[in-house]
Amino acid sequence: MTEKLFWSDMYCRVFDAKVIAVEETRVQLDRTAFNPRGGGLVSDTGTLGGLRVAEVTKDGESIFHVMQEPVPWSVGEVLHGELDWDRRYRIMRMHTSAHILSAVVHRESGALITGNQISPDESRVDFNLADFDKEKIASYVDGANRAVSRGLDVKTYFMKREEALATPGFVKLANAMPPTLAELRIVQIGDVDTQADGGVHVANTREIGKVAVVKTENKGKDNRRLYFTVQDAGV
Ligand SMILES: [Zn+2]
Repeated sequence: MTEKLFWSDMYCRVFDAKVIAVEETRVQLDRTAFNPRGGGLVSDTGTLGGLRVAEVTKDGESIFHVMQEPVPWSVGEVLHGELDWDRRYRIMRMHTSAHILSAVVHRESGALITGNQISPDESRVDFNLADFDKEKIASYVDGANRAVSRGLDVKTYFMKREEALATPGFVKLANAMPPTLAELRIVQIGDVDTQADGGVHVANTREIGKVAVVKTENKGKDNRRLYFTVQDAGV
């Protein structure tokens, strides 16, 4: 079991950790600040013991740091880890933006979110929506930016699984939540969005800057895909 430093401090960018298992190019640590791929988010990258971390994956509660070459370390060794922080911080801004944008689209249109992909440069959210014209998109993005500029605090806390499941809207991706977990992590963005979520977010929506549409696509009859990015405020 790996202590999730990316949950206790989402701004943790350097850390030291002990190797608990090695297997060819993969290493498990007793604690890590590397957020693994999942929930629509790409994984963090960075260095571990001075070597490149290509990707970080998870399988149940196990987190694997996938290195570019066979792991030279043995169990018990202490390694220094460093995230590619600029990349991670953009992932945090993008992810909180995706939650806000999804909440606004859902509130205004009733559409459900059918998928998302959060990457540092460009992200996307898929909506189950028949009608998605330019004017509507602009009004949703305006709505998201109004929420962003209100400077809402983003809080995380834990809730009993049954309690979270019984709260309407909290568990949007029920299948993604391992049934073994007794408690779910909840992410609350001011009064805009609250849901069970395992990913990394900014602490305040002001850090997002501005949400901007890149393009939209029709993916089947009722499926609309919105590509967006984040820009520094004032751009
Ligand atoms: Zn999320």
